[in-house]
Amino acid sequence: MSLLGRAQVEAWGQPKHLKGRGYVNNISLQACIFCKIARGELPATVVHDEADLLAFRDLSPQSPHHTLLIPRKHIASLDDLDEDDGDLMGRLMLAARDLARRQGLAEAGYRLVANVGADGGQSVGHLHLHLLGGRPLSWPPG
Ligand code: 5GP
Ligand code: ZN
Repeated sequence: MSLLGRAQVEAWGQPKHLKGRGYVNNISLQACIFCKIARGELPATVVHDEADLLAFRDLSPQSPHHTLLIPRKHIASLDDLDEDDGDLMGRLMLAARDLARRQGLAEAGYRLVANVGADGGQSVGHLHLHLLGGRPLSWPPG
């Protein structure tokens, strides 16, 4: 079992132990808000759009610049990555770097965050990176 509780994983996406066995949790995938944004079924301010990645403004920004970057494919969290997701995740990181440069954040600096599971503060069960910038960010996090 991942860091996430079983109930949470099952609410968020395909249970890990059933992956690759032809089981598709249609109800939870249809309910996933980031999948809905990726399918264009929920509005979002999209700032980067490509075949398998999407970036859009956070609904509740925690800094002057706060963007979420997601794979279009539903992956519940960083802990649910498969070995063959490496290329996708590499491209997600490069998209974050390019976006930070385009938004003029690179010189002053910025933060890239992936919250994982309950203790990590993850509230949406679709893997995402937060790109935060535009003000000095304190450390350590709360
Ligand atoms: P987490 O807490 O899982 O790391 O981050 C989830 C983020 O998604 C939060 O910062 C929250 O403000 C954002 N969020 C939640 N629902 C929506 C939504 O419907 N649209 C957008 N754009 N952001 C959302
Ligand atoms: Zn999803």
